[in-house]
This record gives sequence, structure tokens and C-alpha cells, in this order.
Amino acid sequence: MTKTFSTRPSNEPKRHIDCYVCGSAERRMFWQIESASYVKCKKCGFVYQYPQPVPDALAGRYDDSYFEYEIENESNFFDLMLKGLNDIRFFDELESLIKVKRILDIGCATGKLLSFFKSRGWDAYGIEICHQSAEYARKNYGLEILETPVESVDIENEYFGFIHSSHVIEHVPSPVAFLSAIYRLLVPGGYAVIVTPNVEGFQALLLREKWRSAIPDHTFLFSKHTLLSILEKQGFEIVAWKTWGGIAKGIVPTFIKKPFDIMAKLLGFGDVMLFLIRKPTVDL
Ligand SMILES: [Zn+2]
Repeated sequence: MTKTFSTRPSNEPKRHIDCYVCGSAERRMFWQIESASYVKCKKCGFVYQYPQPVPDALAGRYDDSYFEYEIENESNFFDLMLKGLNDIRFFDELESLIKVKRILDIGCATGKLLSFFKSRGWDAYGIEICHQSAEYARKNYGLEILETPVESVDIENEYFGFIHSSHVIEHVPSPVAFLSAIYRLLVPGGYAVIVTPNVEGFQALLLREKWRSAIPDHTFLFSKHTLLSILEKQGFEIVAWKTWGGIAKGIVPTFIKKPFDIMAKLLGFGDVMLFLIRKPTVDL
């Protein structure tokens, strides 16, 4: 089994932060991965890199090799994203409830998911800070792609009926600023989907530092509890929480993997989790 994409940064400048979930500065060592240290907040259990890479260093990581990784995995990632959306009955139920058919996919990579939405009649916009991926999405799918992080993007408030973001929030400089930007950009009553690795999933508990999502590119590693806490503080309504993935391909034979995957889903210890959230119609 290989880990997810990592650029293995070494001598980047670092910055100090307090816990984004509860504000505490008390932490204990959790995992050491290559040049990155993860700590766990003593008060709320949030797992985050400490000290943190500076935002400029984070942005500089998404170059040619990242684009190649996205291209190689384009179909696989697309299938996984559709699976997640089907898990919340997006196309069966939710899509018809969303009146403003304008989607923003943050971290849209090659744009395959957006192209699918476009084919269903949506106005599709993407944010992708990897320039090569953004160009690919424009040329191949004729999409509108912005290369600015969502926290500083120049788009009017309350513009999108749906915002999708898969495997991005664990890479950003501040999950609070990231979610605040999503809140700003959603129409009242609009929905968002956030997908991220689950640090309390079975694979993370079993493999620890060898877990495929324990990589220096991940500035934060969320559990259901820690992400829920940040989402609620931002004012989002929590509509659904799903998890999947019991054990990664290649570790055990298929006849063991299948029941594990079913158990992980039923018991809530899957490797990846999805939050379906909604911006309230009246500000709280
Ligand atoms: Zn905390």
C-alpha cells in the first residue's frame, strides 16, 4: 500500500498556532512523520501539525508532480466522489431541492466532477491552486477555474447553491478561515459537502504513523467530533455524516476487506468521512 501524495517538504519555515477547535495552547506529541510533527490538543483531542508550515510554503507544493498524481487518479477519484454523493442521495433527492444550480468545487483538480455537474445543467466553477490542473480543466472540459485559495477569492457573497470540497480541508492553513469562506459564498439554504480523512477511523488507529493520510501535506487530521465542533461554531446546520473504507486495498484479501468495509460503515470507524452541511436560511 502506498501513502497518498506527499511532496516531502523539509526546510520550510514554520509558524505557531493554538488549537483551532477550542483555542487551547496545551498539546502533547502525537505522531512524527518525516519532517512533520503532529500534536493532539490536551483539551479537545484535535490532531494537527505543530509547528505549522507557513501558507506560502503550502501553496508552493502543488506543481507538475501533483498534476501527474491527479491525472493518474482522475477516474478513481471521480468514482469515489460520486460514491460519496450517492451515499447522501445527492442525485436522487438533494439535487432537486437546490434552487440555485451553481456549484463551486474547491480543489477541483482536473475538473471531472464539475464536468459531470455541467452535463446535468449546472453552472460549474472550480478552485484549483495547481496551475497545470487548472489549465487541464479549462482546456478539456471548458470550465471556469480560479487559481486563488477560497479564503481570498474575489466572488460575491451568497453566490453558490452547492459547494463541494473533497480532500482539501486537511491541507489548508486554517480550517476556520476555509469554512468561513464557504459560509460566505453559499446562498442561505445552500448545501456543502466536505470530505476528509478520519483520524479516528480503524486504519488510523491500526497503522498510526504508517496510515496513508499521515503525511506532511496534511496540516490537520480531523475526527467526527473535532470537525463537527468547527462546523457548528461557523453556524452550519449538520444534515448528514457518513463514513466509509474499513481497510485499504492490498492489506488483506478481498473476502476479509468486504466485511470490514461494511462494519466500518455501520459502526462509524471508516477511513474517510463526509459531512453534508447547510447554511441556515436566517443567520443565527
Ligand atoms: Zn483543542
